[in-house]
Amino acid sequence: MIPPIASRFVAGTSASGALDHVSECNETDMGGILNLLGEHYHDPEPAAEDAEEYCHLVSQLATRDLNGCVSVKPSQIGINVGSDVFTKNFEQIVEIAAAEDVFVWCDMEDHTTTDTTLDAVEATARDHPNGVGVAIQANLTRTHDDLSRLADIPAAVRLVKGAYDEPSSVAHDSKAAIDEAYQTHLEFLFREFDQGVAVGSHDPAMLETAVDLHKEYGTPFEIQMLMGVREDAQRELAAKGYEVNQYIPYGDKWMQYFYRRVRERKENALFALRAVVGV
Ligand code: FAD
Repeated sequence: MIPPIASRFVAGTSASGALDHVSECNETDMGGILNLLGEHYHDPEPAAEDAEEYCHLVSQLATRDLNGCVSVKPSQIGINVGSDVFTKNFEQIVEIAAAEDVFVWCDMEDHTTTDTTLDAVEATARDHPNGVGVAIQANLTRTHDDLSRLADIPAAVRLVKGAYDEPSSVAHDSKAAIDEAYQTHLEFLFREFDQGVAVGSHDPAMLETAVDLHKEYGTPFEIQMLMGVREDAQRELAAKGYEVNQYIPYGDKWMQYFYRRVRERKENALFALRAVVGV
């Protein structure tokens, strides 16, 4: 059971509760991106169990006729066990999802996993064109090369700023440099990815850039934001006719995710404190 304080960011512990949350998002013209919380498994069993749960989820999304998809973390389906384990689990999820016409995103973790993740996404996208997408991080200095590679593959890109503390040998280290890189990469995406761009950011400046680029290039785009973060803005953007998809984490491993959200922003910490002291 998740305490009410955490339920702003996490849609319960069960798949059925998370699917209900997707249904609620659909009522306000937003899609849902389901993420089962879990990461850094070093044994094949939990990786296989989570892969199974994603297969169940994509079937349920189809059965309930929901506007939703899933987003999978490489380290929860076996990247730390072996690249073959990860690739096999990812392919299994995508195969079942493709049969149900459900899209599969692959989250991106720290830079040591980028090559293996992109290899798996590329192989799977070639078998299931337009059925998969991958998060790409603007904070990494390699990102332009990765986007150029992906431009030739039938896979979608979600551009994010990057959530991992990376060494300065591989990453931009100031917020200004990351923001600038994000906008440069967005321009490339709108220019080169006719099939569409996913803007994974809460930052009004990045969203404004995306709107301007859409006007310039006509490329369709969707906005992806996390459950519990700028939800008023999410609903307003959806009401204005933008495609908005909410990233919805759920599952019994909610504690670590919740504290990450609280730590990353003063307002979230205040929200948590108010909920605890009841003011
Ligand atoms: P920030 O740079 O954090 O903030 C910029 C501005 O946005 C702020 O000044 C403020 O105006 C506004 N803002 C931001 N947060 C809030 C808030 N809580 N309330 C009000 N205003 C706010 N990272 C990965 O490394 N790999 C992934 O696979 C990945 N997937 C993601 C999927 C989605 C859908 C999203 C939204 C993010 C994902 N991330 C991922 C995280 C991402 O890399 C960033 O760490 C995170 O989104 C914070 O960056 P930002 O662009 O939202 O804006």
